[in-house]
Amino acid sequence: MDGATIAQGSEAERLKSLLGYGILDTPPDPAYDEIVRVAAQVTRAPYAYLGFLDANRLWFKSRVGFPQPEIPRLAAICQFTILDAEPLLIADTATELRFAVSDLPLTRHLHCRSYLGAPLVGAKGPVGTMAVLAPDANAFTQEHASILGVLARQVVTRLEYTIHARAQERAIRARQRIERALTVERNFVSTVLDTMPTPVLVLDTAGRIVRFNRACEQLSGYTFAELAGRAFPQELFLPEERQKAIDLLHEASFGALREARELHWLSREGVRRCIAWHATTLTDGMAETSFIVMSGLDVTERRRLDRMKDEFISTVSHELRTPLTSLRAALGLVGGGVLANQPEKSSHMIEVAQANCERLVRLVNDILDFERMGAGRLPMEFGEADARELLERAIHLHEPSAQKARIALRMEAAPLSLWVDQGRILQTLGNLIGNAIKFSPEGSEVLVRARPLHGSEAIVSVEDQGRGIPAEKLDAIFERFQQVDASDSRDMGGTGLGLAICRNIVRQHGGRIWAESVVGQGSAFRFTLPTTQKRGAAALAN
Ligand code: ADP
Repeated sequence: MDGATIAQGSEAERLKSLLGYGILDTPPDPAYDEIVRVAAQVTRAPYAYLGFLDANRLWFKSRVGFPQPEIPRLAAICQFTILDAEPLLIADTATELRFAVSDLPLTRHLHCRSYLGAPLVGAKGPVGTMAVLAPDANAFTQEHASILGVLARQVVTRLEYTIHARAQERAIRARQRIERALTVERNFVSTVLDTMPTPVLVLDTAGRIVRFNRACEQLSGYTFAELAGRAFPQELFLPEERQKAIDLLHEASFGALREARELHWLSREGVRRCIAWHATTLTDGMAETSFIVMSGLDVTERRRLDRMKDEFISTVSHELRTPLTSLRAALGLVGGGVLANQPEKSSHMIEVAQANCERLVRLVNDILDFERMGAGRLPMEFGEADARELLERAIHLHEPSAQKARIALRMEAAPLSLWVDQGRILQTLGNLIGNAIKFSPEGSEVLVRARPLHGSEAIVSVEDQGRGIPAEKLDAIFERFQQVDASDSRDMGGTGLGLAICRNIVRQHGGRIWAESVVGQGSAFRFTLPTTQKRGAAALAN
């Protein structure tokens, strides 16, 4: 590598570091102007400048005494100051043979014989000069040279500071950009979490709540702001399940839970919710668990249905077993010939068996009806029916059992045209009249009535003078298998499904059913039904 190449290489480096300052072709800066003015004043120079040596020009950042923004590099004596990287004092260009110049042209008409320049030496070498010039010879001294050196260093400090400040500004802007991006990301994640209908909870390894999505807020009644940063908030868990929650978290922090775990939450209003939780961990760069993400499923309703199903099955099997046991016992006695010589007892046993068979048939029919209605599959055939005729038919069907129980059936019916499924309303009336007969004493009366309630509805009631129903049971008896007394099904041969079925039928007619009663004096079961007028109104509305 020869000398010229080395020089070219270092010049390229120098130009690169000059570009790095980003100063070329920037607008005037009052701070630099002031320094240049001070240099001119102190040295009593008519001309002064702060110049940066570009590839082909000397560009003036600041200047005193002349207007030119730049001069060609070849015409600039500064290139020597810069290349030597030392202050250069030329007392008289006329006698200075070193540079082969007779004067220094600052502009076409402005020539100087005195020159004093101090290089601007940055961290990576000289990039420009601070210079003063005068038309006369011997204008500057060594003392001026050292002052100019100090001022040149001031300029470099400011240059370096500007670079540093710019880098810092860039770093701040980059950080702000990252923060903005993170905020967008956070908002995005929160929005996604909040639109999920299932509860999602994020905890740190100490169990502190970091995220609590909207579904969690709705389930618990607490806001994220109230629980943020708290570990296992007392109010959220059932006291007896707190340890279970801690164990679950502990297990989850070692990896995903293999299966869902159920925990109860207690809402602000005191409502218990059963939630099945799945958990996964979020690890940091070192594969350490930093957060635990719990996603839940509210299984309260599912568990309630499970319980109801279990109760239903156990009640139904009990209801089936009781008459079957009695049936088997009766048939066993008759079949075993024990009663061969006792025809009266024998026929009594057959009656018992027959009654139990009937009870079984009733139970199975009721369950089937109930099941079909629950699924909304019970077909209804609506049609016009005269209230009086309907009531008469229902009474006629029950006349034999009423007579047997020595109970009088009476009817009061206003002329009314109903819009009903006759078969289902007969079933309803039959159940109510049957109950009234069952629960009334001999010699009493059961009154079946129908009257208009208002234009579009009629009200039908079955009133008895029987034992009555306690006030706290008036609503419950409409639920399946609910009886006032546990012995009712045994003694009275009921299934406990009748009123639940009645309620379904009435509801399917768009009506309501309820019971009124005074214990010891009697009960009244009432229900409303649509009249043909209502149907007409509905048809018009449609
Ligand atoms: P069941 O087949 O047992 O009669 P229901 O659903 O029809 O079932 O009736 C439920 C319970 O309501 C009865 O077991 C009885 O305890 C009570 N009940 C119904 N009707 C009357 C009534 N007229 N008087 C007194 N109690 C009644």
